[in-house]
Amino acid sequence: MKLVLLGPPGAGKGTQAERLVKKHGIPQLSTGDMLRAAVKAGTPVGLQAKAVMESGGLVSDEIVVGIIADRMEEPDAVNGFILDGFPRTVAQAQALDVMLEKKGLKLDGIVELKVDENALMARIEKRAAETLAAGGVVRADDNPDAFKKRLVAYREQTAPVSAYYASRGTLKTVDGMASIDDVTRAIDSVLAG
Ligand code: AMP
Repeated sequence: MKLVLLGPPGAGKGTQAERLVKKHGIPQLSTGDMLRAAVKAGTPVGLQAKAVMESGGLVSDEIVVGIIADRMEEPDAVNGFILDGFPRTVAQAQALDVMLEKKGLKLDGIVELKVDENALMARIEKRAAETLAAGGVVRADDNPDAFKKRLVAYREQTAPVSAYYASRGTLKTVDGMASIDDVTRAIDSVLAG
């Protein structure tokens, strides 16, 4: 099973990806997680990405396409994967097409979580509060200024990715405002259908 999860920041992609990992036994490939790990480890990629991530902008296509290409080569991704946070630009979606074509692979599903943008800021504030309450460290970009920029990046650069897949008839849309369990059920159902 090879899936792409699309949707704005705070839509619940990470939460649903975790459930899909358990259900299908395939890894979640989150470019955000990989970039945060690179920043933490102080790698050259991390050093390049840190400031743009903290401000809420997008890291260059070249960097993220390279990260994903390497990650897909790892043995645990052979039987499938869930892409979470990638592709985020049409150029990334095209690069993904080329990567998959070279391997003779095809995506089994592209699922977009549709959410009301007005609810997203509240969700992000909740996520930050829950992380703090659990003794965790809040993401550097989970603050109102960076979040607004992430939404702009989504609208301008990532929404066209949904249009890219929709124009090929491969996009499935799910109501991301429903409860977490209902969203999971809806995803299962569009993937089965
Ligand atoms: P996320 O955890 O998916 O919300 O990603 C956090 C941040 O990492 C984003 O705001 C971007 O700065 C960067 N990032 C993650 N994935 C990508 C991507 N596919 N393309 C560009 N930047 C990305």
